[in-house]
Amino acid sequence: MMTPIYGNDAVLEQIRTMRARDRMPQAVLFWGERGRGRRSLARYFAMTALCNGENAPCGECPSCRKIAQDIHPDVMWPEHSGKRGGFSVETVRHVISDAIVAPNDGDRKVYIFTDCDGMDIRPQNTLLKLTEEPPAHVLLVFTALSRSAFLETMLSRMMPIAVRPCTPEECRRALTQDHGVRDADADAAVSACGGNIGQALAWLEDSDMQALTRCAAQITGALAQKNAYSVLRLLAGYEKDRQSALTLLELLDLQLRDALAMQYGQNACAGCDRRSAEGLSRGLSVSRAARMHEAIRDAWEALDANVSTRIVLAALGGELVS
Ligand SMILES: [Zn+2]
Repeated sequence: MMTPIYGNDAVLEQIRTMRARDRMPQAVLFWGERGRGRRSLARYFAMTALCNGENAPCGECPSCRKIAQDIHPDVMWPEHSGKRGGFSVETVRHVISDAIVAPNDGDRKVYIFTDCDGMDIRPQNTLLKLTEEPPAHVLLVFTALSRSAFLETMLSRMMPIAVRPCTPEECRRALTQDHGVRDADADAAVSACGGNIGQALAWLEDSDMQALTRCAAQITGALAQKNAYSVLRLLAGYEKDRQSALTLLELLDLQLRDALAMQYGQNACAGCDRRSAEGLSRGLSVSRAARMHEAIRDAWEALDANVSTRIVLAALGGELVS
């Protein structure tokens, strides 16, 4: 009934304990990288709060079943709006007036605000009062990439909970057992996305993304060999596609971060290809890594500011192998 949640057993335990002690926070923030299961944890939190069975969340009572299917009348997912996918002041006002009304089914109401990174100051300020003094039956759940998505005043009223990635093995198990992905595809997705199930699923659906991760791995390999020609040729493949070029630079930067972390003996798996990152890490000086990181960041900003993609990528290729 319940979709398994991987890599965050401590968080699940914490939520169950809070419920058992009748100490569930009225505002909680699940923060961490996209795809790690923040939304699943938010649903788990709501399930635990509203469960009518024994050992909440039981996964079997009518409340748990409705939440699992996203049809519970007392669990609301306020709608995103605007360019940055934030929340409008109207939406927030609607939540505030709805929050005063008693629950339909049980004794609690849960509002889940997902992906709050684009939430502007105005809606946050509008929501502040409710977060500070919610009616006894109201629980507010937020998800974001980082805690810095929120104003300090809002943040001080929430319990922030970090959402961790799972291991590549857990990710592989989730793909094959819970999502019916074939073994070979699961292996490829895990090598591209590590312990991020959401990203792995998205990657499997997206052939452009597959091509981009392949290209990022190839560039990493060419950088390890200081093969300027290959680096330039691979980058040039995206000179007519600004959006993909931006993504490629993000992937490259993660590869670089992994390569540097590996030098310090850390277990790095943020990037899309471990083997080429290992190659690059050999003999990579901190100063060269810092220069490359800056060059990538500058190129990203230039692309974002609409400078010619061809010129930016050519200049970047030159700097990366200098
Ligand atoms: Zn239940």
